[in-house]
Amino acid sequence: MKPMTGHVWNGLRLLAVTLLLTGCAVLPRAKPGTTQSAMRLMAATADLAAAGASRLPADYIWATLRDRNGDPEVQAAFDRALADATGAGQCRLLRALERKFIHDPNCSGLDILGPELSDHFRNFPWHDDDFPGGPEGPNEQFADVMVDALDLVRPERRANRSRAAVVLRQEVNAAVWGYITNQWRAVAGQEQWKLNRHALTSFLRMRARARADGVELIILSAHRSPETARANAARAGNAHAVASFSAHSLGLAIDFKMSQAGEFQTRETFTRPMSELVRMRQSPVHKWLLLRGEEFGWYPYQNEPWHWEYNPPGFRDRFWADFPGGAPVRGVIIDGP
Ligand SMILES: [Zn+2]
Repeated sequence: MKPMTGHVWNGLRLLAVTLLLTGCAVLPRAKPGTTQSAMRLMAATADLAAAGASRLPADYIWATLRDRNGDPEVQAAFDRALADATGAGQCRLLRALERKFIHDPNCSGLDILGPELSDHFRNFPWHDDDFPGGPEGPNEQFADVMVDALDLVRPERRANRSRAAVVLRQEVNAAVWGYITNQWRAVAGQEQWKLNRHALTSFLRMRARARADGVELIILSAHRSPETARANAARAGNAHAVASFSAHSLGLAIDFKMSQAGEFQTRETFTRPMSELVRMRQSPVHKWLLLRGEEFGWYPYQNEPWHWEYNPPGFRDRFWADFPGGAPVRGVIIDGP
C-alpha cells in the first residue's frame, strides 16, 4: 500500500461509505399499466432484501421485476408470489432474482455496492500491479478502498487472524498442530483436498445447493501443511508471504475455480493484472458465494475473489471442543493488517 496521510485515507473511506449510503436511494419506476398488487409485491420484495434477506442491490431488484416478462423463471416466480398470501413466495422470488444475477455475465459482485461505486471500480483505469502487495502499483490505495467498501456490505471473518480468528499463529504448538491435522477429512469427489471436518460438512451441503442453482463449486486448493507451505514459498521465492500461517493451514479455506463451463473463463488465482481481478467478480461462482455462502458459514477474503473461509459465528468453540482444556484464553485481539 502506498503511504498516505491519515486525513486523505479517512477521506477516501468516508467517500466510499457516503456513496454506499446514498447509492441505495432508488425510486420505483413502474411500467404503465402495472397493477397496484404488482407494485406492492415489487416494493415488498425490495424491502425484504433491504431487511437482510438478500444482498441484491435495490436497483437490480426493481429493474429486473419491472422487465420480468423477459425472463420466464422470474416471471413465473413473480406470478406465484402474487398468488401466495403467506409471503413465502417473496423469498422464492428473491432466490429467482439471485439466480438471474449470478448467471448474468454483465452483473458483478461489485454491484452489491450499488451502481455508482460498482461502475467506478469496474471502469477504473487500473494499473497491472494495483493488487495490494509488491510490486507496488500506482493506485493500490484505491484497491484498498474497494475492498473496504465490500467489507461494509459482506464482511470478512478471517479464520487465522482478526477478532473472529479460530486459531492464531501464536497459539500453534505441536499438540495444537496435531489437533488441527487430525480434524482434516478428504473431500468427496475431490479427494486430493482436505478440509476441517466441520468445514467439510458445510461445504458438501453448500456444493449441492450451488449445483441446484446451476453453479459448480470446484476446489483448486484447500488444506496446506507446513511442508507444502515451505515448498510453495521456495518455488515462489517469497518465503515470508507464502509460508505464512494461513486459513489454509487450518483446513478452513478454499480457493475456488472461478471459471465456469460455458459461462465464464479466467486464468484463475493470478493477482495480476488488477483489471482481471476486478473482472473475476463477474464469475458465477464468486457471485453465488457472495450472495449465498454466508448461509453455510463461508466468508470472503476481499482481496482475492477465489479465496473463501469457513468461520461462522460461534465456530471457535466448536473447533476447540475436543482439545484438552478447550480454546486458548485470549486477551485483547488487535486486528492485523
Ligand atoms: Zn487461498
